[in-house]
Amino acid sequence: MDRTERQTMGRAVPDDDTERHDRTTAEQTDRTEQRAPHESGEARDYRAAFHISRLAMALLDREGTVLDANDALGELLGTGADALPDQAAADLLDLASDTRTWHAYHEALDSLRARFRCTRRLKHPDGRTLWAEVTVAPVPDTDRVLLSVTDISDRRELQARLRHLQQHDPVTRLPNRTLFFERLAAALDSSAPGDGPFEGGTYGSRTYATGAAAYGTGIAYGVASAAGAAAAAASAASSSYRARGHDRASGGVTGPGRGNGRGNGRGDGRTGRIGLCYLDLDGFKAVNDTLGHRTGDQLLAAVAGRLTECADHGGYTRSGGHLVARLGGDEFAILVEDSTGTEQLADLARSVLAALQRPFDLAGQRLSVSASIGVVERAVEGTTPTGLMQAADTTLYWAKADGKARWTLFDPERNAHRMTRQALTSALRPAVEREEFVLQYQPLVGMADGIVRGVEALVRWNHPQFGTLSPNRFIGIAEEDGSIVQLGGWVLRTACRQARRWQLDHPGAQPLFVSVNVAVRQVWDSDLVGDVAGILAETGLSPHLLQLELTESAVMGSAGRPLQALQALSDMGVRIAIDDFGTGYSNLAYLSRLPVSVLKLDGSFVRGFRYDEGVHPSPADETIVEALIQLAHRLGLTVTAECVETSGQAARLQRIGCDTGQGWLFSRPVAPERIAEIIAAVSPNGV
Ligand code: C2E
Ligand code: MG
Ligand code: MG
Repeated sequence: MDRTERQTMGRAVPDDDTERHDRTTAEQTDRTEQRAPHESGEARDYRAAFHISRLAMALLDREGTVLDANDALGELLGTGADALPDQAAADLLDLASDTRTWHAYHEALDSLRARFRCTRRLKHPDGRTLWAEVTVAPVPDTDRVLLSVTDISDRRELQARLRHLQQHDPVTRLPNRTLFFERLAAALDSSAPGDGPFEGGTYGSRTYATGAAAYGTGIAYGVASAAGAAAAAASAASSSYRARGHDRASGGVTGPGRGNGRGNGRGDGRTGRIGLCYLDLDGFKAVNDTLGHRTGDQLLAAVAGRLTECADHGGYTRSGGHLVARLGGDEFAILVEDSTGTEQLADLARSVLAALQRPFDLAGQRLSVSASIGVVERAVEGTTPTGLMQAADTTLYWAKADGKARWTLFDPERNAHRMTRQALTSALRPAVEREEFVLQYQPLVGMADGIVRGVEALVRWNHPQFGTLSPNRFIGIAEEDGSIVQLGGWVLRTACRQARRWQLDHPGAQPLFVSVNVAVRQVWDSDLVGDVAGILAETGLSPHLLQLELTESAVMGSAGRPLQALQALSDMGVRIAIDDFGTGYSNLAYLSRLPVSVLKLDGSFVRGFRYDEGVHPSPADETIVEALIQLAHRLGLTVTAECVETSGQAARLQRIGCDTGQGWLFSRPVAPERIAEIIAAVSPNGV
């Protein structure tokens, strides 16, 4: 079939509007049959099938001109089939609007590819928009090309709805974590400025302003006072100026227009900077627990509404407002793209705190909440989503730790300390396994005769980078992450082995007891009694040469397991001492009923005794300590004074009846070899 023939066939379709609308399938079949009397029966069958098919189709020539189109396509395009012949398919289906599509379409027309498919957004004459999937495929062994079009609007809409559901939180209707991180990643992807992978501006905070709802009024439920929050905000604001100075050290490049609120002068609104307010409600759990999850959800929705208002007033960006997202639980984030500096973020944080100060009237209750906000502002360049979120998380933690109901600005210097803490935390467990720890021993001396009775084992960490670290740097971390159990076990075994070694090396001398610090978690999370029994058996050390030091808080209120453990250890013959006594709130009478035999008076008591160095003594301290010692003795406890640094202190402690002392006056904590020398010096036969 040549081109003229084809066009004749195309034009042969009656061009009559009224007739077209009333046409039946049978008529169409007749008509096509009439128009091609020379066709074979098979060809007529195909032609009839083409016309009655519900799949919208057209036959094109190699230039892409419509030769014939079926009714389904006419309906889909809203023009009727008769209007289509002679038209360029590219015009009908918007195939020329981008070069890639245009190119691929022409490859299909020229049979350079077997099929070309694309999705187009078309405007129907009745005003609605429809999504069409267009397929173009050359018909083999002919000069024709088959075009088929499917209306996929429903599928697209469903996909869009699903995507919306996946990206939004049903409680607050805010964008959720998924959308937040997508948007953050796009904002930080400076290689594609302004071209995030998102359709339209539907995630802008304005769209979700309906999250707030009005509820009834009623009783007050206070979580934070408005005045307190205002004062906190004011103090945080003044401290932010100090922190601003440090911000440069974060590696952030000072961006154009930073802090002046005027953008970059390029006129495109891009500043190359990004900011984040990371917010957590204070005391939200209490609302949930006391008033139920329904009220909790209502409160979250109301908070979302206020945040959205603040974000809207905080100025618009290219993308139509700051993104307000619920990251989970009672955590929210406001992302400020193209921020103009810390001042903009500080203003936003202040306005959020102020907005949340107004009480919420929900379901007959009046609720007050406050929030803590971590604020981070930095250059986009060199910033990763993880880096930004970690900084925000740390800063939020500071805001909470500093007293809640406030905003805090990220401070790189403060962060550096945390880094060391973090570095120590991650290095701790392997260090326990590699045994990077050593023990030093500090003599415990009889006050009456000056004879060394025992030693306290004090652990040190020989850190490959940071050098020797004192226990104050890492014991807390080890307690937090649980590695104290393993470390404590090592300390106990090493100390017992060492005490036994001294005993064996100096058979003529009075054997020294060893006093080992035990963390509260060791009592709870490990089989302390079993471990101690095993270690004593393994090392051959007598139980009465072992003393365990526990803090007041570990022993006070101990019931159940800890108490049973203490009792079992005491029954075994191991002595229990209360370390740092006087720093907690122990009740002496209660303590005496526990299997405790020694009180170690905290160093702060002894410090009041320093009158031999020109410092006025505090008679009150001395009176208290004297009464304490007398009471302890009456209750059957012995007393050891910590931090004895001067002979004056030692003399007074001796006078008021203190049993043993420990401190620099006698010796600093030393290596085990040095203790061996001390034992040898006082031993009757000098070994
Ligand atoms: P602690 O048990 O109260 O140990 C006494 C602390 O006071 C030691 O600090 C010791 O060096 C210090 N000290 C001793 N005499 C004096 C003095 O005359 N003046 C002053 N100013 N200080 C003195 P260190 O070794 O830094 O240990 C600190 C704390 O770490 C210990 O306090 C103890 O609570 C904990 N600790 C040490 N080793 C271990 C251990 O193996 N396990 C556990 N769980 N905690 C340990
Ligand atoms: Mg101790
Ligand atoms: Mg102590």
